[in-house]
Amino acid sequence: MVVLAVGAHPDDLELHCFGTLAKFVKNGHTVYTSTIANGNKGHYQIKPRELAETRLKETSDAAKLIGATYIGLDVADMMVDSHDRDQQKKAVELIRKVKPDLIITHGSGDYMSDHTETAGLIFYAAFASSLPSYPAELPFHDDVVPVYNMENASGIGFVPDEYVDISEEFELKLDAIRCHKSQMEWLSEHDGFNMLDSARIFAEFRGMQCSVKYAEAFALFKKWPRLRSQRLLP
Ligand SMILES: [Zn+2]
Repeated sequence: MVVLAVGAHPDDLELHCFGTLAKFVKNGHTVYTSTIANGNKGHYQIKPRELAETRLKETSDAAKLIGATYIGLDVADMMVDSHDRDQQKKAVELIRKVKPDLIITHGSGDYMSDHTETAGLIFYAAFASSLPSYPAELPFHDDVVPVYNMENASGIGFVPDEYVDISEEFELKLDAIRCHKSQMEWLSEHDGFNMLDSARIFAEFRGMQCSVKYAEAFALFKKWPRLRSQRLLP
């Protein structure tokens, strides 16, 4: 199986689904990670272009750590727009290039516009990429791909459908988060938020719900014709 995970920013996937992605790789599947935005606005000292390069390197390193391949779409922070024709085309090209069997991304109830607009872009692109006449460089993908929404920031309003036991992958997930040195500084200074503590709290909480040590939680995007009769998550 080919799995594509699309976050708004470098670090979103690491926080909310990297244990599952690592497990997919361990089970022999091919995993691509992507971000729509480049993370260029989240720092007090580092200027936007330099910051974007730093953050793309950090998330690329994190992907390598779990055996995944990173592809960034390089949209500026706070500019992700599901109605932007160029961004729609970039998202379609991403899906046509990767040809995933499963996509993991944000849900529509997340905490900031880049996240919810990423959910909207994937909703658009996963369908458009299957249309032979959609004007893109690559040929169409012969599937309207199933989509899972990952945990949102802080978990407010998020109701999981499925859990993935990441007990064996949890330390690797923490190592992937540690690749995000610039973001750990920013979130600590700007929001008083510790990424490693948050990852542990979420994994223990979701693990408690499904009776394992550490877990990640997902909600299936329930729209025809994306639903399948078999479980797709590991
Ligand atoms: Zn984000």
